[in-house]
Amino acid sequence: MDIFPKALLDGYRTFREQRLPTEQSRYRDLSVRGQAPETMVIGCCDSRVSPEVIFDAGPGELFVVRNVANLVPPFETGGTYHGVSAALEFGVAALKVKHIVVLGHAQCGGIRAFIDKIQPLSPGDFIGKWMAMFIKPGEVVEQRDRESMQDFTTRIEKAAVFRSLENLMTFPFVRARVEGGEMILHGAYFGVAEGSLFVLDPATKEFRNVRKSGGE
Ligand SMILES: [Zn+2]
Repeated sequence: MDIFPKALLDGYRTFREQRLPTEQSRYRDLSVRGQAPETMVIGCCDSRVSPEVIFDAGPGELFVVRNVANLVPPFETGGTYHGVSAALEFGVAALKVKHIVVLGHAQCGGIRAFIDKIQPLSPGDFIGKWMAMFIKPGEVVEQRDRESMQDFTTRIEKAAVFRSLENLMTFPFVRARVEGGEMILHGAYFGVAEGSLFVLDPATKEFRNVRKSGGE
């Protein structure tokens, strides 16, 4: 155990002493009945943007898939390794979640890498290839006149949420449940510094601050 990170062992002890006693019955119940989360969250790997923390969720409440820049690739059956598609298939077709939330966030490193067109971090250029799906053929993503770098970055971070929502609808099993009124897709954006949450208003296509719009 010497090489296992001490912070994690300490964290687990705190969990076992403080959280587990209050949630033991819930864990036992979930282990017998299985999970039945109503919400799936597609978030970023970013360590500051943990869906369970932001939504104060307990065990069994959120079905989460995280990847660089909270992206959902377009539906396609070629290729071999479809991590997001497999999670979607299970969350939607097996667990039958009622909501999917795409959670974008401020200061996203994946988006930043995309904007800055960074050099590959390794010969595989996995981030570059992953982020490339973000743009459609012929689409140009660039800073507008008089748009600050900050505003540009925020705009693209939010565009990633829109793109993921759009791509979600390319999955036949997602589209069927959405059109059948059995599942709703949502967009959200987390402001890291303030801990603020913005939720996408489907009518105006704008992100609204949850606190300001009285949606608490
Ligand atoms: Zn991110």
